[in-house]
Amino acid sequence: MGLFYWNPTYWLFVGPALLFMLYAQWRISSSYRRWGRVQNSQGIPGAVAAERLLAENGMSGIGIRGISGRLTDNYDPQSNTLSLSEDVARQASVASLAIVAHEIGHAQQDAQNSLLMKARAGIVPAVNFGSSLGPILFIVGYFLQFPALMWVGIAFFSMAFVFALLTLPLEIDASARAMRMLKAGNLLEEGRELRGARSVLSAAALTYVAALLTALAQLLYYMTLASGGRRRRR
Ligand SMILES: [Zn+2]
Repeated sequence: MGLFYWNPTYWLFVGPALLFMLYAQWRISSSYRRWGRVQNSQGIPGAVAAERLLAENGMSGIGIRGISGRLTDNYDPQSNTLSLSEDVARQASVASLAIVAHEIGHAQQDAQNSLLMKARAGIVPAVNFGSSLGPILFIVGYFLQFPALMWVGIAFFSMAFVFALLTLPLEIDASARAMRMLKAGNLLEEGRELRGARSVLSAAALTYVAALLTALAQLLYYMTLASGGRRRRR
């Protein structure tokens, strides 16, 4: 869609969402840096906390492995694997435990057959297909001044927005589960430590809000172009 980046209207729509995304990324990295330096009072590293939380919550059959990179921690429902980044696995910080518990929250959603999680996994092929074919249809429609084709293109790449829309509640729920698990398992102390974990998880949630707003802004921009195209035809 590089062509349309020249249009100032594009930045009018997408600019604020992208600025918000930068802010959210700054928030998560500064919160992670801050609470990554604060040791949890029990001195439990992330990898040990992961084993403890899985056992405490009756989740057997979930493998734990290491993954390179920073903040790359994730849970893969396909292979039932919890991947922990080196820092999170090794460090006995407040941030490590917050992140580990959040990923185990996703494992718990999976174990409880979350419909939302299934729906999101189900649309992945459509998201991939739609984001490659959608822009092509849109551009062809734009140059042929054929609004119907532009709208088909929009429908195709609106799947990315639907994906972001399904992701946000899953992320918020995983963080709520994380806070409950950390409290119930006495992994973090009431007060400062739990507040720190909440701060890391809220900052992480903000990045998913930003992703949703960016997808929405892009969608609205292309919808504006498509309806403008129709007006010009009349
Ligand atoms: Zn998550």
